Amino acid sequence: MAYVIPPAATTSLAVVGTQDLFPVHNIYCVGRNYADHAIEMGHDPDREPPFFFMKPAYACLGDQGVMAYPGESEDVHHEVELVVALQSGGQNIPVADAMACVYGYGVGIDMTRRDLQAQAKQLARPWDAGKVFLHAAPCSALRPQAQVGELAAAVINLAINGEQKQHGTLDQMIWRVPEIISRLSMLFPLLPGDLIFTGTPAGVGPVQRGDRLHAAIAGIGELHIQVAP
Ligand code: MN
Repeated sequence: MAYVIPPAATTSLAVVGTQDLFPVHNIYCVGRNYADHAIEMGHDPDREPPFFFMKPAYACLGDQGVMAYPGESEDVHHEVELVVALQSGGQNIPVADAMACVYGYGVGIDMTRRDLQAQAKQLARPWDAGKVFLHAAPCSALRPQAQVGELAAAVINLAINGEQKQHGTLDQMIWRVPEIISRLSMLFPLLPGDLIFTGTPAGVGPVQRGDRLHAAIAGIGELHIQVAP
């Protein structure tokens, strides 16, 4: 037996301080997981629980990558986020068992065609055109969970061309990592290699062609990318 066409190549991310690679499977994203970002987007964080959307593995772009500015948009926004990488999965995972599924963490950017997302919201259509495109999910090298200390108050930030645009701390997350994993696993079959982008703090805004972006989470990692000129 043989494949009738070559299977798609596996997308991977580096592991900090090693030559090892983490194979990326599906990418899940949490919407509105920081109260101040929910408010800046015109929503009441107390009334709206976070929800999920997905990006394909091909959206991944590693550290030092060059992001192609996507077509069909003139308003691409950055959303800096904690990324959780899963080493195991399952369905209906209890909150108490969720952390055993975590391989490690990174810092990523949920790139968004805000104009297409706004149009989709207005027409009550799916968000895919706003959230899915080549290089829509830049992510740093991953740091294994065992090397990461207490996540709670870690600073998360993003700068463009040296100017700070987003700043927050992970304790501002409405849903914490184990709760997100548990809830996702009730809806979807989680698998090893899945990434979870866990939502963004306030300060989202546009990126321009040629911009240099620097995203960081203290104690986890750093991500440098450039938007293609
Ligand atoms: Mn996001």
